[in-house]
Amino acid sequence: AKAEGRNTHRRFTQAMEQKALERQGLLAKLRGALGRGELYLNYQPQFDLATRQIVGAEALLRWCHPELGAISPERFIPIAEESGLIVEIGQWVILEACRQAAAWQRAGLPGITMAVNLSAIQFQRPDLCESVAGILATTGLPGQNLELELTESVLVGDVERVVNTIKTLKQQGIHLTVDDFGTGYSSLAYLQRFAVDKLKIDQSFVRNMATDESSSSVVRAIIRLAHSLGLKVVAEGVETAGQTEQLARLTCDEVQGYHFGKPMDAEEFTALLGSRTTP
Ligand code: C2E
Ligand code: CA
Ligand code: CA
Ligand code: CA
Repeated sequence: AKAEGRNTHRRFTQAMEQKALERQGLLAKLRGALGRGELYLNYQPQFDLATRQIVGAEALLRWCHPELGAISPERFIPIAEESGLIVEIGQWVILEACRQAAAWQRAGLPGITMAVNLSAIQFQRPDLCESVAGILATTGLPGQNLELELTESVLVGDVERVVNTIKTLKQQGIHLTVDDFGTGYSSLAYLQRFAVDKLKIDQSFVRNMATDESSSSVVRAIIRLAHSLGLKVVAEGVETAGQTEQLARLTCDEVQGYHFGKPMDAEEFTALLGSRTTP
């Protein structure tokens, strides 16, 4: 039994080492990815549930490596975060997303809000507000057309610092959304303390809404909570007409998901926006 335990332990250690090596390999490849043009953005449309108009896009980072092919953000973003690379990459994401939104605006396409995901490390940088202001100035995108998505984990840090950062961003007209709402561990008290604009219901609740009574209760509670605090609420991961109807009945404001549009490249999104202007 002892030998068996040792074997299990050795196999476990080998698996860990294997994983660490994989991560190191991926990190080495990720380091030059931005400079080699392997990173790009996809855009997923967001719709107003009442009018069914496109009101926004979420920018989602993609990495296509010449040999490995497409690597999921679920795999490379944690590596970028641990290594600190996310600061440089995240900066580029904001710039590229704002540049694209401004280009669509200049082309006379329907005005939308561009939502960009921010990692905790980016949010904690003292130069965040300044660099976002610089990007808005460079690209000419009005602040009110930019939305930053933060996870609950961002909001548990130094309260005063978080309050000030949010205030400075909002002075530029920027909107703030709490992403993956309902999955974090933080208390709800931060919703009063931090002047966020929108809650994004995590897709796990949306997915189970039709079959699981407790998920639909959570969705209903989040929408009520948001509205009672004067916040908007968006549901993500909406995949069916049934989920859409249920969300409409619960007076959810906006929806995003495969039922309405998958993440797509800039060209496809341009066509989607264009098709909306023709009556
Ligand atoms: P997220 O911010 O929660 O983004 C939503 C994810 O759900 C995206 O996965 C999107 O493609 C996927 N999705 C959208 N609609 C549906 C649907 O109807 N059904 C299902 N099953 N999935 C749907 P993606 O693009 O793989 O991104 C994964 C995560 O990577 C994101 O989760 C976000 O946390 C992170 N991420 C992506 N881009 C960035 C970025 O530029 N910066 C940072 N910091 N994180 C990013
Ligand atoms: Ca997001
Ligand atoms: Ca999310
Ligand atoms: Ca997520």
